[in-house]
Amino acid sequence: MTQEQTMVPFLHPYQANFIRHQLLQLIGAFYFAGDHRVLAASREGVEDTILSTFPGATPEQRALLQDAKNVRDKDELKVYMSRLEPHVIPFPEITAPEIRKLFPKVKKLVLPDLQSIDRSKLTYLGWRDIATSSLYLVYRNGDKWAGKEFKFVPGPKNRTMICTWCHTTGSGDDVALVTSRVKTKVVDGYKTLGNHLCLDSAVCNSRITSTTEMEAMLASLR
Ligand SMILES: [Zn+2]
Repeated sequence: MTQEQTMVPFLHPYQANFIRHQLLQLIGAFYFAGDHRVLAASREGVEDTILSTFPGATPEQRALLQDAKNVRDKDELKVYMSRLEPHVIPFPEITAPEIRKLFPKVKKLVLPDLQSIDRSKLTYLGWRDIATSSLYLVYRNGDKWAGKEFKFVPGPKNRTMICTWCHTTGSGDDVALVTSRVKTKVVDGYKTLGNHLCLDSAVCNSRITSTTEMEAMLASLR
């Protein structure tokens, strides 16, 4: 085994997305930069941005991250991303009974296909029940599981909306208004809060580059 392969996983899936996002911009700079000094500055900028995301990186991890700046095209990006794969911390394993416990009030809860999910790509677990227009989200809150149920309303096909979590625009079934009932301070009081989210959670997970918005939104719904 090489030294790189023996490293302990240190990247969350959304951080791998963040690096890919940075490198796609760098590849764009390769196409447009006529001046090698501009290019060198772009590479340094990407290196600094990536390294600053991992302040606690070990020397081996830093070396791997620093190598990102050498990516010049989409083929090299693919190779580089596959080098990062063994270092990704997968989404923790969760069982069907654990999921059911998170949604005690939902009768006949539709479960996601836990066998087929790729945990190395997940920042959160999300799935839909089309029959009840429900979107279920499960995420790790510290050392505990948390779950949230939303109702969704697909938007019109001719209007695009932005997903609060991954910042991608979409229309119709891609990004839709999701609502959630939240308890208010009044006894037995509820209010409904709305947000825009991707309905296809696998797609959202492949694009999300930060958990800041996700955590803020879920904290406001608790
Ligand atoms: Zn999204």
